[in-house]
Amino acid sequence: MLNIILFGAPGCGKGTQAKRLAEHYGLNHISTGEVIRSEIARKTELGRSMEGYISRGELAPDDIVVGMIRDYMESHRGEGSIFDGFPRTTAQAEAFDIMLDRMGLAVDTMIYMDVPEQELVDRILLRGKDSGRADDASEEVIRNRIDVYRSQTEVVAEYYSQRGKYAGVNGHGTMDEVFERLCNVIDALPR
Ligand code: ADP
Repeated sequence: MLNIILFGAPGCGKGTQAKRLAEHYGLNHISTGEVIRSEIARKTELGRSMEGYISRGELAPDDIVVGMIRDYMESHRGEGSIFDGFPRTTAQAEAFDIMLDRMGLAVDTMIYMDVPEQELVDRILLRGKDSGRADDASEEVIRNRIDVYRSQTEVVAEYYSQRGKYAGVNGHGTMDEVFERLCNVIDALPR
């Protein structure tokens, strides 16, 4: 039962690879971004409270996102998961550790996907043409998401690295090449 965090800047390809990895290893795939977009689309109270942050390219509040993950963990007991887009701040990582520990679980590893900045922006703009995601359409919002990533999220890699739970892969290349690199990391994990 693996719990793997797929990590990297917006546009690095986490979502695509997370889906494939989940299928390949028989794990669940949880994307906090997708859960948030679905709450917004369904016009729930939770969705309404997060809409402003997302459209500006800012992070949703930690307590809301941690609550979402807690609900997810409680309804998926005994199953392994690929976490895509979570944790995104050190506070989220700390809360996640406490939550997992109480459930007798732990993160196996974080895998960082490294992609050059200009490629990130190009990929997101391209995706925005058919994803219909409001936060993918404007270069300004995309740059802001990348800035937020650099200032608040990148440090989360250190959190896992200090705990010996970190691996990095080159995220530049074809989808198949990157997938293979990720599989190599997962296959080498102690089971
Ligand atoms: P991307 O990786 O391209 O930014 P996501 O779907 O992962 O796309 O996230 C979209 C948006 O949802 C983020 O810009 C952020 O506003 C919000 N979000 C997603 N996950 C989190 C999280 N763990 N904490 C706070 N906000 C989040």
